[in-house]
Amino acid sequence: AAAPAPESRPGFIARAFGTKPGEVKRVLDDAMLESLEEVLIQADMGVETSIKLSARLAEGHFGRRVGTREIKEALAREIAAILTPVARPLPIYAKRPQVVLVVGVNGSGKTTTIGKLASQLRGAGKSVVIAAGDTFRAAAVEQLQVWGSRAGVPVMTAPQGSDPASLAFDAMVRAEAEGADMLLIDTAGRLQNRQDLMEELAKIVRVIRKKDPQAPHNTVLVLDATTGQNALSQVEIFRKIADVSGLVMTKLDGTAKGGVLVALADRFGLPIHAIGVGESIDDLAPFDPDEFARALTG
Ligand code: GDP
Repeated sequence: AAAPAPESRPGFIARAFGTKPGEVKRVLDDAMLESLEEVLIQADMGVETSIKLSARLAEGHFGRRVGTREIKEALAREIAAILTPVARPLPIYAKRPQVVLVVGVNGSGKTTTIGKLASQLRGAGKSVVIAAGDTFRAAAVEQLQVWGSRAGVPVMTAPQGSDPASLAFDAMVRAEAEGADMLLIDTAGRLQNRQDLMEELAKIVRVIRKKDPQAPHNTVLVLDATTGQNALSQVEIFRKIADVSGLVMTKLDGTAKGGVLVALADRFGLPIHAIGVGESIDDLAPFDPDEFARALTG
């Protein structure tokens, strides 16, 4: 795991601002904007987005005497304005089965997120089938079976090392035969061999399209909040490999506040479907941009 994100230390705006929370007002000048920019970058919001945020803050406040709280609130509003357009739950279609391909590097929380999502969908009255498409990692398959039984959802598996695409095809056949509403397909996340992974995912897509030319209906990329700026390069890589339609960010219950989500939203505009806030089955929360922005500006 990476070191705790710098923004996890409280009061980062107060520090940049040079006053203690609630203390004297100061004139918002270039120097202050610069140090604010710096802490936004430290908080993983990325250079471009940090510059943009400080420019927006300057628009309403430059040269004025402002207090920490006012700056915090203004910044939270600007951040929420970037996040609000992308806060969109996983869309549910009438199509049966709706196929959701779940991608991401190993360890990002794919398996866990699939388990949580399956449970939520079940709770919403949907019938769900899971396909354990990372046939390479025995542990991943076992984990998914555990999650499946917790969620009360069948998990289709194949022998270790067998072709994930043929498993995906069998899962499509089963989901169709059972009239399942949703099919969630786990995939491998071995980025060390990008070419292999690309071919593997492309083959899964090709094969399930034999059953439904529109599938997969969603390709959800799972990102680990504790990897900070890495999330940006992961989105870039996976967008080349797969037709990513939305994001889930996990591990936001720890020290990482997920400032990188602001950079992601600003740069890619991909929907953020949900956030992972723990290791239990109910720990997949809707993404609330206002709450998130307030937590971020702390
Ligand atoms: P995968 O390799 O992408 O399938 O990742 P896993 O689902 O196996 O998750 C890797 C580790 O991260 C496991 O120990 C999970 O319990 C943990 N994890 C996943 N999501 C979250 C989350 O939202 N919060 C916390 N604290 N841990 C998580």
